[in-house]
Amino acid sequence: MRVQNLIGGDWVDGASTIDVEDPSTGELIGRAPAASPEDVARALAAAGSVRQAWASAAPAERERLVRRVADELERRRDDLVSTLSREGGRPLREARGEVDKAITTFRYYGGLAGSLDGRAVGAGTGYRHETRREPIGTVVAITPWNVPAASPARKLAPAMLAGAPIILKPASATPLTAALMVQAIADAGAPAGAVQLVAGSGRTVGGALVSASDIAAVTFTGSTEVGLQLQAQLSGRLVRTQLELGGKNAAIVLEDADLGRAAEVIVAAAYASAGQQCTATSRVIVQRSVAGELTDAILDRVGRLVVGPTDDEATTMGPLIDRAQVEATAGFVDRATAQGAAAVHGGKVLPGPGHYYAPTVLTGVKPDMEIAREEVFGPVLAVLEVDDEDEALRVCNDTVYGLAAAIHTRDLARAQALSERIDCGVVAVNGPTAGIDLPLPFGGFKLSGTATKEHGPESMEFFTRTKLVSWRS
Ligand code: NAD
Repeated sequence: MRVQNLIGGDWVDGASTIDVEDPSTGELIGRAPAASPEDVARALAAAGSVRQAWASAAPAERERLVRRVADELERRRDDLVSTLSREGGRPLREARGEVDKAITTFRYYGGLAGSLDGRAVGAGTGYRHETRREPIGTVVAITPWNVPAASPARKLAPAMLAGAPIILKPASATPLTAALMVQAIADAGAPAGAVQLVAGSGRTVGGALVSASDIAAVTFTGSTEVGLQLQAQLSGRLVRTQLELGGKNAAIVLEDADLGRAAEVIVAAAYASAGQQCTATSRVIVQRSVAGELTDAILDRVGRLVVGPTDDEATTMGPLIDRAQVEATAGFVDRATAQGAAAVHGGKVLPGPGHYYAPTVLTGVKPDMEIAREEVFGPVLAVLEVDDEDEALRVCNDTVYGLAAAIHTRDLARAQALSERIDCGVVAVNGPTAGIDLPLPFGGFKLSGTATKEHGPESMEFFTRTKLVSWRS
């Protein structure tokens, strides 16, 4: 499969190409263009040219366009699922779920033109004041490889509804899914320059986009390390910035919890995408009195995971994205066991072809160990024992991240009290940290993000600016 960039209204090749690999096998499956600095400049100019006309289009017209994109995506669902599954290393069942999420996102924003309404503000005789929601201007969107369809959808759909031109730079491991999505947007009738695709390396293409003087906003999803670099690069400029970054998500399990149910959702959220989700459960913080029983219930379910290539319907856990991710995961586990943790399941690299690491459960983990503090982005669950819920809360919040947490208890008053004190943007009670698939406001605190929200009506705040117009008769 070979894809092109969309610049202005033209599909074009790049200055060079990016090889795209299937992580299940290590085989080359496609090529994408790597944009040149001139391509980036042309994309920025095209966004500038369409900006006024796109902003002036009736919101209902843009809303209809966003709905047509959902229809176009639906039409090519099978193609999107197989492409995403192959390049992203996600088992087919997960790939279907993600593509459906992307379609739902477009359907959702395709009914949200009302969120662009202004309001009339109380005025005295002879005066009238009103607020208007205007598009923010040109937006740069930079997305990660682990959510190749849903992450771009969360940025493209609200930007289109707002009427803000948006330039998407997808991750180099997963440009094919992004190109199929942008093709659907072009086929739905988006005006030239309103939505553009410039694949290429983060440093050169992403860097050139973020440095451009004529951008109004940057929405970035990816690692905390790169997010902080971008923030530094943008400092001193009033470019609206949304950063959706890494996590070290915990499931707190209290002694009165339904342990079987807790184990079920913990395992689902820890090993989906082979742990490569920003919201993956990577710590279990369990009250000591039930730690043994919960660990057994977790091990029972982990033992039933089927690790294999993504195109096998029996597979429940696929590969990691590349060799580097396997080595990074192995390094975390080796250092944890050297510090005294026990790998009671997995703890090893699996043979190829492809990039596999065994689903791993570590017990005896202490809060000050690296494995309890750093994001692994692999199929590794660390179990930490605590005496009571105060200690559980302390351990849960004792990380630089603040993305997602879960509380498992039958006592909803305790859950309510904990949910108020957990320093995370998303808290689930008796549910998973990962896999929230409705258009609900999503985004992390602390080093997990700017606490701006993606999804939901809240997202429209990011893509618009409010103007006050005062009238005097
Ligand atoms: P990454 O930070 O390496 O890359 C993300 C994107 O940034 C890619 O498109 C990359 O090409 C680009 N990039 C890299 N360096 C750049 C630079 N100097 N300038 C501009 N762009 C640059 O992240 P990744 O490995 O693709 O994704 C995994 C990370 O993303 C994990 O940390 C995960 O937790 C995080 N993530 C967060 C969320 C969220 O919503 N909070 C969702 C998914 C993934």
